[in-house]
Amino acid sequence: MKIFVINCGSSSIKYQLFDMTDESVLAGGLLERVGTDEASLNHYAGEVRCDMQVAAPDHGAGVSIILKMLTDADRGVLADVDEIDGVGHRVVHGGQSLTASVRVDGSVLDAIRANIPLAPLHNPANLAGIEGAMSAMPDAGHVAVFDTAFLATLPAEAYRYAVPNEWYTVHRVRRYGFHGTSHRYVTYRAAELLGKCVDEINLITCHLGNGCSMTAVAGGAAVDHSMGMTPLEGLVMGTRSGDVDPAIIPYMVGEGMTVEEVDKALNKESGLLGLSEIGNDMRDLLVAAEAGNDKAQLAVDVFCRRIVKYIGAYYAILPSVDAVVLTGGIGENSLPIRAAVCRRLARLGAVLDEQRNVSTVGKAGPITADGCDLPVWVIPTDEEVVIARDTAGLVS
Ligand code: ADP
Repeated sequence: MKIFVINCGSSSIKYQLFDMTDESVLAGGLLERVGTDEASLNHYAGEVRCDMQVAAPDHGAGVSIILKMLTDADRGVLADVDEIDGVGHRVVHGGQSLTASVRVDGSVLDAIRANIPLAPLHNPANLAGIEGAMSAMPDAGHVAVFDTAFLATLPAEAYRYAVPNEWYTVHRVRRYGFHGTSHRYVTYRAAELLGKCVDEINLITCHLGNGCSMTAVAGGAAVDHSMGMTPLEGLVMGTRSGDVDPAIIPYMVGEGMTVEEVDKALNKESGLLGLSEIGNDMRDLLVAAEAGNDKAQLAVDVFCRRIVKYIGAYYAILPSVDAVVLTGGIGENSLPIRAAVCRRLARLGAVLDEQRNVSTVGKAGPITADGCDLPVWVIPTDEEVVIARDTAGLVS
């Protein structure tokens, strides 16, 4: 069975083609600047690598370009598009109604559309990708996999904000949570690696990439989560502030900014970028901090402190903690951040093993000493394989 996984951003399409007999990736790539006549396609298939400029005026055209590449007589991996049995689509917001992966039909498209107000940047792009792919591959089964789905098990006391009831009942204001596919993947992988049944595992999973979020997992299910109604809440991120006092927003409006400017500043000019005034990439900040840049060091410290505050909060909520799991670009690769987080968790029983920290890159494993009270694990995430598995399950 061959499954094509598509992740559409507002101006990009990321894709992978899986052979589900062994979950191997036959081909993949990234099409950027979708919506222009100068899109760039970065494609790979085994040893074959190819970069090219193409015209991709919309997501439908983008999908067609990718399919042409997959079926190319010289460089392709498929004889015909019909070989694709299922197409898995990453959809950011499932809202309250779409709480598990689902075969796409008219009513699912309507429900995704109804959630556009909750994810105005993401859901329209996801919809455009689904519609483009459905017209290019009408005979394949299409499946939507939602970023919010793994967080659908949060209890009301975790997902409700203490705001007027009507904000929730009329305006759907509540915590939804995001990065659910990544938190789900590392939860199941942690259960395998720790030799436990998934419904017996208790974890604190930390997805630390450009976007950062954390989930408290009890018995394999999410019971609390750091992102909120939007992906702005919670941890410090590349360009997002994470938690701030909401009264800062009217205050800055009073200082002369428009609401739109404040919103943009909190989403795109804050976080690591805002504090450091260097950039949003943790690698650059660590180099600058090492060279004595105080703002970069402060950004790193605020980032780590926020993570540890959330771990402390989730430690208090959970019945026990089998492991803290670090994943995402920073969690998987940044040795200094992993070490700093472990050191700050000494009070809860984490004991950093420097050697393990150095050797655990690009693979899963503990970075704390055997037998310590709070094991910290690194587990590389794989959202695409989760989407491929869900799709295979629903189309077969
Ligand atoms: P996204 O959230 O966009 O999927 P990733 O999970 O790929 O992002 O994480 C991207 C971030 O990971 C980069 O912004 C960078 O800060 C960080 N990162 C990647 N590799 C390293 C590394 N070797 N050291 C420190 N940070 C890294």
